[in-house]
Amino acid sequence: MTRVLVLNSGSSSLRYRLFDGSEVLAKGLIQRIGEDGGDAADHREALQRLMDTVDLTGLAVVGHRVVHGGDRFTASTVINDEVVATIEELVPLAPLHNPAALTGIDVARKLLPDVPQVAVFDTAFHSTIPPEGVLWAIDRDLASRWGLRRYGFHGTSHAYVSRETARLLGKPVTETNVITLHLGNGASATAVRGGRSVATSMGMTPLSGLVMGTRSGDIDPSLVFHLHRVAGLSLDEIEDTLTRRSGLLGLAGDNDMRTVQERRAAGDQQAALTLDVYYRRLREYVGAYLAVLGRVDAITFTAGIGENSPPVRAGTLTGLEALGIAVDPDRNARNELIISPDGTPITVCVVPTEEELEIADEARRAIGSES
Ligand code: ADP
Repeated sequence: MTRVLVLNSGSSSLRYRLFDGSEVLAKGLIQRIGEDGGDAADHREALQRLMDTVDLTGLAVVGHRVVHGGDRFTASTVINDEVVATIEELVPLAPLHNPAALTGIDVARKLLPDVPQVAVFDTAFHSTIPPEGVLWAIDRDLASRWGLRRYGFHGTSHAYVSRETARLLGKPVTETNVITLHLGNGASATAVRGGRSVATSMGMTPLSGLVMGTRSGDIDPSLVFHLHRVAGLSLDEIEDTLTRRSGLLGLAGDNDMRTVQERRAAGDQQAALTLDVYYRRLREYVGAYLAVLGRVDAITFTAGIGENSPPVRAGTLTGLEALGIAVDPDRNARNELIISPDGTPITVCVVPTEEELEIADEARRAIGSES
């Protein structure tokens, strides 16, 4: 029994993928749940529809993507009532994401009561970051009372692509140091030493770090006070502007990297400046993580932008030859797996991420059944 159903529940969507080993038997997205004209009235109906249309015979385990595991979950965990209660306690840290995951877990436990269910956390891979990489220099009583620290996200992606990078280099994971750059609508950079995350750019929430589609990434936190006291925005309005109206959208007016690239190619100065900010932030993190790791074998690009955008990869890494980093223009243009010239000290890789497959493998490992 190696079949695994991976469920990724959003507030109004249910994304699923059924694996047998690494083979995808079925996949789909049930959307606009609970809305007029949507695919299902609620998540229970959505899962029931999935069970009516997809053959789940021989299902060994269900793997649920859960965004925030706080400091309570450092690994994928078989779900029971206590685990559900703990994920509920973490809702204040992820008020949009964890409730949706809990809904998915609840209906799956009811409709598939005989199948073990596993929670796979976006944060877990980063639980190996040492204290100096997760603590901020703020009042430590406040920090510990309210759980104010870096947790990091996109963990399944950083874990998967860092392992695949080691495979590509033909080196054991435990001896490979990689900087992984997950660049999608959300974006994060991670420093991985010997298979373990030691630094990452997202923080307590997915708002900090790199410039993203609509999120600001790093800012001076005093902007929040200024926007409130001087500009008169409410806290909700400030959260809205930093999470949904910033990033590429805030700077260029477009949140889609393809559109911003096309505009720059057509001579649009605002688009050019936006990309300069985007590349500059990435370079700052690459430089920081070179210093954190000391020795780096590879820099790996992944996710929608990282896998598909030669200009972003070149724009991020040009001019770094003195640091042992170079990009071959032809290899880059062809989105090859290795885009650095032969013989450069640091290999630059493009590795397509497989977050659902990683969740499936984690779910299998958690119930003690390797694929
Ligand atoms: P999500 O974080 O929602 O999973 P993706 O990983 O799918 O997002 O990444 C979406 C981003 O990838 C968008 O900004 C999109 O413009 C960008 N993208 C996809 N294909 C290309 C391409 N060929 N060139 C540049 N950007 C691309």
